Amino acid sequence: MTGEYFLLIVMKFGGRSVGGAEALRNVVALISNYASANDVVVVTSAMNGVTNSLIQAATRASQRDEKHVAEVTEQLRTRHENVCEQVITRTDEIKRTIARLDLELRELEKALTGVSYLGELTPRSLDYVLSFGEKLSTLVLAGSLHDSGLSVQRLTGEEAGIVTDASFGEATPLMNVTQLKLEEKLCPLIKDRKIPVVTGYIAATQDGVPTTLGRGGSDYTATIIGSALGADEVWIWTDVDGIMTADPKIEHAAQTIREISFMEAMEMSHFGAKAMHPRALEPAAKIGLPVRVKNTFNPNGPDTLILQDQRIKSVNVVKAVTSVREASMVTVSGAGMHGAPGTAAKVLDALGKNDVNVLMISQSSSEANISLVTARSSLERAVTALKELLLKESLFKEITSEDDVSIVAAVGAGMKGTLGIAARIFRAIADKGVNVKMIAQGSSELNISFVVREDDVLKSVHALHEEFRLGD
Ligand code: ASP
Ligand code: MG
Repeated sequence: MTGEYFLLIVMKFGGRSVGGAEALRNVVALISNYASANDVVVVTSAMNGVTNSLIQAATRASQRDEKHVAEVTEQLRTRHENVCEQVITRTDEIKRTIARLDLELRELEKALTGVSYLGELTPRSLDYVLSFGEKLSTLVLAGSLHDSGLSVQRLTGEEAGIVTDASFGEATPLMNVTQLKLEEKLCPLIKDRKIPVVTGYIAATQDGVPTTLGRGGSDYTATIIGSALGADEVWIWTDVDGIMTADPKIEHAAQTIREISFMEAMEMSHFGAKAMHPRALEPAAKIGLPVRVKNTFNPNGPDTLILQDQRIKSVNVVKAVTSVREASMVTVSGAGMHGAPGTAAKVLDALGKNDVNVLMISQSSSEANISLVTARSSLERAVTALKELLLKESLFKEITSEDDVSIVAAVGAGMKGTLGIAARIFRAIADKGVNVKMIAQGSSELNISFVVREDDVLKSVHALHEEFRLGD
């Protein structure tokens, strides 16, 4: 094929795409298809559910539950071996892959046993335990690709060259060294037409201590590699038709958004659109590397292209309606808060120290109350932290909370500077008889978010989807 120009595409597959025999066969076919006319680098997540069960196993190990350690490693062994046996056709390839799985599983068992002896789980040891999810899934995928006649090389994030700081659980790549190392390692493979199959999510510090990039971090791995290698595009393969105008489980009329800017996509991922890891778009946005979101189960269906600027001017100023469910709202109030500098800082500091992530915040201009929205799972911690703060310094009088709320957000770059959007949003909501509990507009003007009762979330999403004709 001399003289032909190969595109370099980094393809990332999510946990559901590699989590079972049928899905994996499909992924093998997709990769074979695209790799015949392009240079491809493959990145994959752990099989779906595996990261969660590793977290659970590590936690239970730290409570000295050794029985659970053995159970989990056996479950992982069975699941990965089964997929191998169903997808790989050649016996020697099955044997080789299962032997490699066995080496990893023994290491995992040792790590978990170590945790249970110590009765202690540090963020550092948790990252080591979590690294096995992706190590196992890439072995199965690489074995399957090799079996289907492709030339592949499986690499961990560390072997590929991703170097991070030591913030275990949410490490940040050191881009300068990472770029050099990735080029050094992957370019020769690509030149040889060998497909690198790289573990998503996991990397290592300069000293080789395993780290992870934060939950859902395989997307991030893909954009780090794509930007370091100067790829033409990064493709995020998932199980929906790209980024949708609303969650299709809530809104039947939801459509794929064909083009969207990095700014809008980032705004959406912060508001619960599960399509991307929030930091994953940063490396791509920085150099204008296009990212495409595609559906492995509908590869020829519609997809979303994320670009630096919007080439197609949308007729709709609002592009999507997103929602964050299972949220809770905490309000601190008291007339004494008025004119007392530093109250908000102290409130946020107390929550931050107790590991409570604040999704939304608003303060009335009377300064007599501050409302905060957090995930429902952290409500108890939030209330306890605020009660402690109240006991220490009487900054406010009262703490109230509601545990049955959701956030709804309208997102779109066209909202910036367009008059009357907020009015349309809240009229549409009011017409459906929904009461709005709290409102915030980011100063980016890319989104307007508000809080409603959990029971009203479907109605609210429908109302806005209709008002802005997102299903047309
Ligand atoms: N396996 C990791 C997680 O579940 C990373 C990923 O799926 O992207 O968070
Ligand atoms: Mg995942």
